[in-house]
This record gives sequence, structure tokens and C-alpha cells, in this order.
Amino acid sequence: MQTLQEKINYDKTFDCVQCGYCLPACPTYETMERETHSPRGRINLVKLVAEDKASIEDLREPIEKCLGCMACTTVCPTNVQYGQILEGAKEVIEDQRSESGKQSKVEDFLFESFFSSEKWMRTLGNLTWFYQKSGLQAFANRLSLTRFAPLHLEKIERVIPEQPSPKARAKRVNHYKPDGPAQAKVAFFTGCIMDGVFFETNQNTIELLVRSGLEVLLPEQQSCCGALHAHSGKIDDSRELAKRNIEAFEKAEVNYIVNNAGGCGARLIEYHHLFDEGSYWYDRAKRFVSKVKDVSQILVEVEGLEFTKPINRTVTYQPSCHMTNVQGITSPPLELIKKVPGITLKELDRLDFCCGSAGIYNIVNYEDSMDILDVKMKDVCGTQPESIITTNPGCLLQMKLGIEREGATETMDAVHLVDLLLEAEPKVNYKFC
Ligand code: SF4
Ligand code: SF4
Repeated sequence: MQTLQEKINYDKTFDCVQCGYCLPACPTYETMERETHSPRGRINLVKLVAEDKASIEDLREPIEKCLGCMACTTVCPTNVQYGQILEGAKEVIEDQRSESGKQSKVEDFLFESFFSSEKWMRTLGNLTWFYQKSGLQAFANRLSLTRFAPLHLEKIERVIPEQPSPKARAKRVNHYKPDGPAQAKVAFFTGCIMDGVFFETNQNTIELLVRSGLEVLLPEQQSCCGALHAHSGKIDDSRELAKRNIEAFEKAEVNYIVNNAGGCGARLIEYHHLFDEGSYWYDRAKRFVSKVKDVSQILVEVEGLEFTKPINRTVTYQPSCHMTNVQGITSPPLELIKKVPGITLKELDRLDFCCGSAGIYNIVNYEDSMDILDVKMKDVCGTQPESIITTNPGCLLQMKLGIEREGATETMDAVHLVDLLLEAEPKVNYKFC
């Protein structure tokens, strides 16, 4: 049984030398202007709790207001493992909450049954389709009924993409082959929210991979990556989901495991951290992790891949924080965007500044999230793009919210990188393979 000090990673807090280099990189420090809401302040609070000089309750708010964007880790000169400190702090807060019986039944259902169930995700997509197509959405909006929805969901429902019909969803199969010889065999990680709400983008990902000369499998027993659970301190649940995915993808026997969501990818490449080094599951997790790639990493390596349809559009790129700061992927998406004929790419001044989406942060901390989004949108609007390209479902919805807040829906849209690349009609020139 771990002590509080072990669980909260007390030893790692000593790596912080209080230099403050992380302060300008931290979005919550910039918008909330409080030391306790900076990386350095949060680390100090963790240390005080471990030394019994502050209570877990003192830690709760600053930790819940942290985006987990990890921008602080990329500028830290002493390589403080802030991610592990944050995860430990969340676990301790969550433990205290469950001991006090304050967990809500809704939360239990969401984490234990909803996100981890492919059936529930399909139901979510189908119900949203019914809401959109039956006239209910138009009726609710006409009478402003959506204002009664909890957690600012009335803002979010407006930016949810059009859903495919249940019939279209049911058409998906588990194995796709390219026309020519396959350059590699990959398994596609579909994700929970990605498959529930961005099913079309997932289908486009499969088509993009196949048209890029790859054989694609969809392992049936795969599940949610567990990122949302880990961000909420539910480490045991996250570990169980990791085991489920490791088993499902082992059976597929592929060269790579491909995902199209920066947040999911960041969780998948850290699966081994959930197990004791040298244990049976640690070794299996390491083998799994060695195969994980973002779709952009795979595509830049495909020989002879070209985009044949010009897209005459000015775009900017909003990277996913977890893709940049945890996975360390920065150039592949930009290389691919530049490969599309006709595109004018205008880069943001503050690429590393989080958009404020951060998993479900924009739902549970809506006002704070909007303050951060407004900073981001100032930078975005400075580039005057017609499209904002993203690589993560949360960022995509947040950018759509940002466009609405700017009143720019007539002139600007937000699209996933995959959707842009498929629109540009990819083709593999096999003579170069
Ligand atoms: S940059 Fe690193 S060492 Fe410096 S205050 Fe921030 S976390 Fe601590
Ligand atoms: S993870 Fe992001 S929000 Fe949290 S302390 Fe680090 S920079 Fe600030």
C-alpha cells in the first residue's frame, strides 16, 4: 500500500528549483494571475500537503484548474516531472472524495460505463443524429429551450458536427485493404468521443490511410484510452482500460497502432507508467507503446504520397498540447499541410498556448476555459485564416466555440487535419515506393 507521500510523488517535487521559467508558459497563471495557479505554486502546494502543512482541500481548486497542457514541462530547465506530480495529486484528491462518499452517481456512470463502452458511444452518436435530423434541435433553438441545459451544454451542442445516420454507422467493417501493395499493416485506435461525435473524421482517417497505401484493421475489443479517467484521478480505471487495449491490439499483429487524437495518443504512449517496472504488464505495455503513432507521423513516412486537388485557402494550425508537449510531435502535421497544393499556411505567434479545451475542462470549468480561449482567438484572428486546422477532438470543438464567440462563423471554420488531407485527394505514386 502506497503512503500519501509516495502517491503524491513528494520526492519529485524537489526537482523544482523555484526558478519561475515556467510562469510565462502557463495559461492559467496568465489568466488567473495567482501563484497557486502556476506550475511552481502547484508543486509547492503538493509539497506542503505531503509534509502535512496544508490539507488536500487546499490543493483541490488549484489542481482542478490546471489544464494538464504540460506547456510548463517543455520550458523547465530541471526537467520536473510535472505530469506525474499532477496525476498523483489528482489521485489523492479523488481518493479523499470517494472516502467521504461525495462521488456523484452521474460521474460514476460516466467513467465506469459510458466513456468505456463502444455501445454507449454509438448510442450517443445516434441520439445526436436523431436530435439534429428530427427537427428537435431547430425547435429547441427556436424556443431557446437549450438555455436550460446544464454545464453550458447549449453552447457546445451548437458546434457538434452533423452526425451520420445509424445505418451509415453500421456499415463500417473491421478490415480495409489498399488497391496496390500495402506499405504497412496498421491497427486504428478509434477512441471514445472521437468515434461517438466525430465518426465521419474517423471514417475519413481510415480512407486516408487506405488511399495512402496502408492496410487497416479495427480491433473489435478496443476501448477508451483512459485519458479522461486519469485526468480525473481515476488511475485504477485508467489502468484497466489500458489492459483491455493492450490485449485487443496484441491480437491484431500489426506494424503500427495509429490514432488521430492528440489527447488519446498522449495516453497510449504512457501506458507503461501505469505498471511497475519489470512486471508482466509493464513489458506488454512497452511493446504496445513502441507501436503507437499519430496518423500524421505515419503519413509523412509514406513514400510516393501526394495530394492531387488544390485547396486555395488560408489556414492556421492549432496544435494539440498533448501531441506537442507529451508526444513530442510538432513537425509532421505542418509538413502535411504544406504538401497540399494551393494552401497558404499562416502560423500562430503562440503555438504552445493551450486553447482551454483540455479534455472536459471546458465543460467543468467553462468560464475559465473561455478566458483562455479568448487569448488564443486573439492570436488566431491575427492570422486571418479561413480554416483552423487541429488534430484533436477537444481542440476542434473549442476552436468552433472560439469562432462563434468571435462572430466569425461566416468567414472561418475549424477542421481536423485528416478531413483537410482527404479533401485534397491523396494518391500514392507506387513507382516511388
Ligand atoms: S521551470 Fe521547472 S524548476 Fe523552474 S519553477 Fe517551474 S517547475 Fe520549478
Ligand atoms: S499543465 Fe498547463 S495549466 Fe497546468 S501548470 Fe502546467 S502550464 Fe500551467
